[in-house]
Amino acid sequence: MNAVDSARMLTLMSSADYLAAPSLEEADLVLLNTCSIREKADQKIYSDLGTLRRWKQRRPGRLVGVGGCLAQQDGEEVRKRAPHVDIVFGTHNIGTLPEMVRRAERRLPTLALGMDEEMTHWDVVPHLPAGAVSAMVAIMQGCDNFCAYCVVPLVRGREVSRPAGDILSEVRALAGRGVVEVVLLGQNVNSYGKKEGEIPFPELLRRISAVEQIKRIRFITSHPRDLDDRTIRLFDEIETLCPHVHLPLQSGSDRVLEAMGRGYTRGEYLAKVGALRHLRPGIAFSSDFIVGFPGETEDDFRETLSVMGEVRFDSSFSFRFSPRPGTRASEMKEKVDPQEAADRLRRLQELQAMHTRERLTAQVGREVLVLVEGASARDPGMRCGRTACNKTVNFTPGNIDGALRSVLVTGAGTHSLVGEERSANA
Ligand code: SF4
Repeated sequence: MNAVDSARMLTLMSSADYLAAPSLEEADLVLLNTCSIREKADQKIYSDLGTLRRWKQRRPGRLVGVGGCLAQQDGEEVRKRAPHVDIVFGTHNIGTLPEMVRRAERRLPTLALGMDEEMTHWDVVPHLPAGAVSAMVAIMQGCDNFCAYCVVPLVRGREVSRPAGDILSEVRALAGRGVVEVVLLGQNVNSYGKKEGEIPFPELLRRISAVEQIKRIRFITSHPRDLDDRTIRLFDEIETLCPHVHLPLQSGSDRVLEAMGRGYTRGEYLAKVGALRHLRPGIAFSSDFIVGFPGETEDDFRETLSVMGEVRFDSSFSFRFSPRPGTRASEMKEKVDPQEAADRLRRLQELQAMHTRERLTAQVGREVLVLVEGASARDPGMRCGRTACNKTVNFTPGNIDGALRSVLVTGAGTHSLVGEERSANA
């Protein structure tokens, strides 16, 4: 979400005669688009703001803006802690960024934190780098779930779905610019359109799949409670729907899931994974985990490890519980000892590393279709891209053009695959 919002900021600022600067020293304006999902992220912003105070002092006239979730959460506090900040703007205020910058140029500090549901900025087309073959498309904003630990509904507001017609127009326009993969974005994509009486999410997927040039469709994030049978069945019906689902489990213990307010049980989660595997053998799963949620016992934690053992996720993001202001979990008394939580996180990540390696190794010797994203970071002579299952592949290119290439996987690393190109496919 933040990446799409940053791309929108680029579009807006280029219409206000600003260009992306090649380095911090050459910049006149720095915009920090912030995250507040965990405590660590927001500590980092204040440390970056310390650096920017010195950067600003080095040349008069430089401007600093802070937007996104931390700005929404801390509001005026940002300027109290960092008085050199010229603009503080919340998640719903991106659309007026050029006016805010003009005010700041006239030395008028701006605080814009309105969160009206009408304040969407879907009409601002995110900047797309030249030659991009993959693009993110926001289909909704905000969330109504209020999971006990999560700050998103407080900083990104209530759930609002974007009209399906607008989404389809954006997808068609992207296809016209050479994009072959779209990633549909929302905090809870499976509840798309329910409040507004829009077409349901599976129908949206069906319509997007009719855009001929789009060869790959992904979506993120699916809520395990709301992922319904109709959407699951589409994995059998729509070939361009990529065989990878990000399905955040958070905990494998029913007791903890209930305390988190997630609305599903371990059994229901596993049944959905099973149904997807049945329809699309080889489908990849990734997940999110929180360890050390208030009241989590060693037995609860072992339940999480046991679900991991059953699903064998391809990858996951895992964090120690971090209390966020204004959430129910921040008031919960039964805190887990920080050392204990750190130890659980280490054990979980070790198990995940083993499963990731297992999943990657299973690809060796196979020919996979890779969507090329650019030069490989590990070797500029190699290309880098992703398989339909969302695995990164660094490969030695042949002399063939095209966004999708057929690659023979010759090896597996800790997080990615290596291979050699075979033939052209698109
Ligand atoms: S569904 Fe996701 S974004 Fe919404 S409150 Fe729960 S964790 Fe946060």
